[in-house]
Amino acid sequence: MHDSTTHIRHALGDAGFDPVRHTRVSVYVHVPFCRTRCHYCAFYLETGYPPRVLDETLEGMISESAFWHELLGAPAVDTLYIGGGTPSVIPAEKLAFFLEALTGTFRVEGRLREATVEVNPESVNPALVSVLNASVIDRISMGVQSLRDNELAVLGRRSDRATALHALEYLRRHFEGRLSVDVIVGTPGQTVRSLQEDLGELLCRGVEHISLYGLTVEEDTVLHQQIIDGRLSMPSHDVHEDLWDAASATIQRAGLESYEVSNYACPGQESVHNAAYWNLNPYLGIGPGAVGMVYARASGDERGCVPLRLTGEDVFRYQQWKHGTYRPAIEVLSLTDHLFEHFMNGLRTRSGVNLSLLHRRFGVPAQRLLDILQDRWCEFPTLQCYDDQHGDRHVYLPLESRMILDRLLPDLWGLLEVALPGLTLNCVESCGETG
Ligand code: SF4
Repeated sequence: MHDSTTHIRHALGDAGFDPVRHTRVSVYVHVPFCRTRCHYCAFYLETGYPPRVLDETLEGMISESAFWHELLGAPAVDTLYIGGGTPSVIPAEKLAFFLEALTGTFRVEGRLREATVEVNPESVNPALVSVLNASVIDRISMGVQSLRDNELAVLGRRSDRATALHALEYLRRHFEGRLSVDVIVGTPGQTVRSLQEDLGELLCRGVEHISLYGLTVEEDTVLHQQIIDGRLSMPSHDVHEDLWDAASATIQRAGLESYEVSNYACPGQESVHNAAYWNLNPYLGIGPGAVGMVYARASGDERGCVPLRLTGEDVFRYQQWKHGTYRPAIEVLSLTDHLFEHFMNGLRTRSGVNLSLLHRRFGVPAQRLLDILQDRWCEFPTLQCYDDQHGDRHVYLPLESRMILDRLLPDLWGLLEVALPGLTLNCVESCGETG
């Protein structure tokens, strides 16, 4: 642990950056293991690994957590998200030990605002649920994706309809926290009717949060090959839009609100952790392949800081934690990129972009930012403003415009670069600020 710490410090030091001692952070833990790879999945992950590799990776994650905890000055952890991969492939007794070690390392002491773990339906069992109930985890995100066996086969998922419904009902009865499900839109063979019926079945079982994902075809996946071979074809753009609109309408009719383009929740059930990403608050990425973002001062600059993206290496390089030679990849993000990301994320959300927050971070007056947006989007009179309960000014797009955001964004980056040359970023110490 000590040697690894030294090496990462040197890596940051070599790059001329001194990490800000954040007061609060969010933590994402990436468990890059799955039993098999789904046909559409291009994430970094391992299948067919020996148990020793899993054990050593979990140990490495605890070491990495201790390192960041110390380096950033023991920040309070606001939210924890354990994703993957499939975290629920960790055997229950190991998961219990890991969760205890992780929360002990970060000294969360009951101060977490939210702690989520991703599970897949086939790994829901009494031992898993009892470990989660006894831990800090208070939210499960389950990858259902579809309730049609033909669609699940196309996606290469390990679960079938019966397994998914059984897991859902078991969690509803025995898990003591909140539940979210993921559903994929645009699977070959999916129809408006099949999608609406699936969502209806999930909603009538009391699901309070749904994330919709549009299926994309990534290179070097089974799905990609099947499309090249002509064995499958993806729905057209129009069909995809019809599917998405029908799904969105079905979910909202059931009382869940669209609080972000892909996310729907009953009032009060929105994901707190996601908001940390959307507001570009600092977050740690723990584990092989995990991505984190922290702020750092450039050497010799007391006030200004830059965002650093840190990416964990693969499972085998990650073992170097034990040998003191581990270095995450560090990327310095440009401030125009960073400001653009604020807009891109914020405009996808119901609460919009917090212009006052951007004023505090970048020193650019809220009205100046608003003028830039309005110049660009004068043809979209739907751009709206409001002041929140703290007096912060927000700009947002109504739901129907959020859905066509991809068409609005392409020129914004260039516009920001021209309108705001020489941006600076004030030190971002806390993730307590909301968007
Ligand atoms: S379960 Fe998730 S991470 Fe694992 S292969 Fe399937 S899509 Fe990829």
